Amino acid sequence: MIDLEFDKNHIWHPYSSLINPAPVYPITRAEGVRIYLEDGRGLIDGMSSWWSTLHGYNVPELNAAMQSQMEKMSHVMFGGLTHEPAVELCKKLVALTPEPLQKVFLADSGSVSVEVAIKMALQYWHSQGRPEKSRLLALRNGYHGDTFGAMATCDPITGMHHLFANQLTQHLFAPAPTPKFDEPCSAQDTAELQQLIEQHHQNLAGVILEPIIQGAGGMRFYSPDYLKRVRELCDQYDLLLIADEIATGFGRSGKLFACEHAGISPDILTLGKALTGGTMTLAATLCTDKVAKGICSGEAGVFMHGPTFMGNPMACAVANASIELLLARDWQQQVNNIEQQLQQELAPLKHAGGVADVRVLGAIGVVEMKQPVDNRTLQQSLIEHGVWLRPFGKLVYTMPPYVISEEDLSRLTAAMVETLGDME
Ligand SMILES: *Cc1c(COP(=O)(O)O)cnc(C)c1O
Repeated sequence: MIDLEFDKNHIWHPYSSLINPAPVYPITRAEGVRIYLEDGRGLIDGMSSWWSTLHGYNVPELNAAMQSQMEKMSHVMFGGLTHEPAVELCKKLVALTPEPLQKVFLADSGSVSVEVAIKMALQYWHSQGRPEKSRLLALRNGYHGDTFGAMATCDPITGMHHLFANQLTQHLFAPAPTPKFDEPCSAQDTAELQQLIEQHHQNLAGVILEPIIQGAGGMRFYSPDYLKRVRELCDQYDLLLIADEIATGFGRSGKLFACEHAGISPDILTLGKALTGGTMTLAATLCTDKVAKGICSGEAGVFMHGPTFMGNPMACAVANASIELLLARDWQQQVNNIEQQLQQELAPLKHAGGVADVRVLGAIGVVEMKQPVDNRTLQQSLIEHGVWLRPFGKLVYTMPPYVISEEDLSRLTAAMVETLGDME
């Protein structure tokens, strides 16, 4: 038996309390779209373990890639050495992402890839003889990670910036985009953003945002026109655009990368979460030739970053296998099917008393309640319905593995409809 008492008393979980710990459920194995509780019950995973397990769990192709790489070399330092899995992965990333993105930095986690992106932007302007361009413009409701550099770009309220006020870089924040995904974006919608840029561009290194989908900061979907406008403003005022596609990358939004909805390319792109199909931690920061040349022609002569486990061969090998599997299967069709089914099956909740909004984009379904829900009770009752979701605040949402069957997805949506439908 998993020692839950020890867990409760000694182990931090994400955003957890050790005074009043929320329950954690013991999991012993996972297979397909199901995670299995110690008592044998299988739960349909509606979270893809935080956007990552696109192909489900215990996937033979991914297991094989890890096994065969492990037998050759599970790790080797990346300073002064290189290897096939890393080269192969970077080739794929350069080929799949928008054309101007040509250079790849392999990082250990999403937050680190954001740190790397920010450092690239700062080092770039330093090299251009403009070190005063050192602040960023971010969006309210944004989320970019938990390390200090990344946290400073997260929504100041949900990110509790006041707790760390003296330690965080004071960046600028524009309002969260208001035009919805299928709406045009008027001049009014970007007025405040534009004003901030006009006022501060001399001191701004760039704009950082999650393209099209704001994830952990509110599960909001916004207009591709807004993103186009940001790109134009960045060009006009000499700002680098950092697109954080850690959550949206690899098809989740219905395009391989969410930037494609707007037909734009950022100067710097971060990827993570689904990169290894949810098997190992790995992330990447890509940038353009211009940014890379700028950085390397400056005072330092090199890009000043290099984690110990950079380019881990096992992680790169399984990332390669995951991307190959994604492209070999018809991910576009899978995501479209999930989108349609979510739209249909969550629609009844639009009329439920406690529900403020139901929205679907790609393989993401969001139910926004009028009031914050009691997460512990709701989670328990979802588990009784055989599904795993992790609601937060007013948001109950799902982004299932792309391989989920129509039947399992129906079970998932039925559980949402049954548990949320009667709430006031
Ligand atoms: C999850 C996430 C991060 C942080 O990634 P970690 O791997 O948790 O450090 C950064 N940005 C976005 C958009 C994310 O969704």
